[in-house]
Amino acid sequence: MKNILLHVCCAPDGTVPLIELVSERNNVIGFFYGNNIHPYEEFLKRKEAALRLAELMNVKFIINNYEPELWINSTREYASEPERGKRCLLCFKIQLESSAEAALKLNCQFLSTTLTISPHKDPGLINSIGKEVASRYGLIWVEKIWRKNSGFQRSVHLSREIGLYRQTYCGCIYSFRGDELSDE
Ligand code: SF4
Repeated sequence: MKNILLHVCCAPDGTVPLIELVSERNNVIGFFYGNNIHPYEEFLKRKEAALRLAELMNVKFIINNYEPELWINSTREYASEPERGKRCLLCFKIQLESSAEAALKLNCQFLSTTLTISPHKDPGLINSIGKEVASRYGLIWVEKIWRKNSGFQRSVHLSREIGLYRQTYCGCIYSFRGDELSDE
């Protein structure tokens, strides 16, 4: 049995990875970073959805303290980058570093992320950032491409079935247009 800290970028994306890792008999702890999420009301919706998923899956789940200024300050130089540009790569790195810190505190030797379930993100890049971060923290990276085998479609179906909140934008202030706050 592996102790895996799973970085969960949002509850819907966490469904398939959590089911698979738990069914492989791993001891999984979910971790939601959240400092990239804007505004606070949106953070609360995503937090609530993550905790609901954790309860349904009967897994421990850690929600990071909401300190958005840390993320804003770290990514400021890439404010004008388009989505999928340099800011997003830095954003993944920041989220995974925070997850690695949590893994060490929680006695997890393995680290993974749900980010590779997204059809909008490059799984190769995410896994290479994850490997680099994990090795820097003395952890083992669990390399997965969750969107394989219709993983994304299954996650959409599952989260609708469960009634999980599904966001309509990636999360940060730069991806937020202001008309997205209503639930689907
Ligand atoms: S668009 Fe998404 S991945 Fe890119 S910086 Fe914003 S929150 Fe992070």
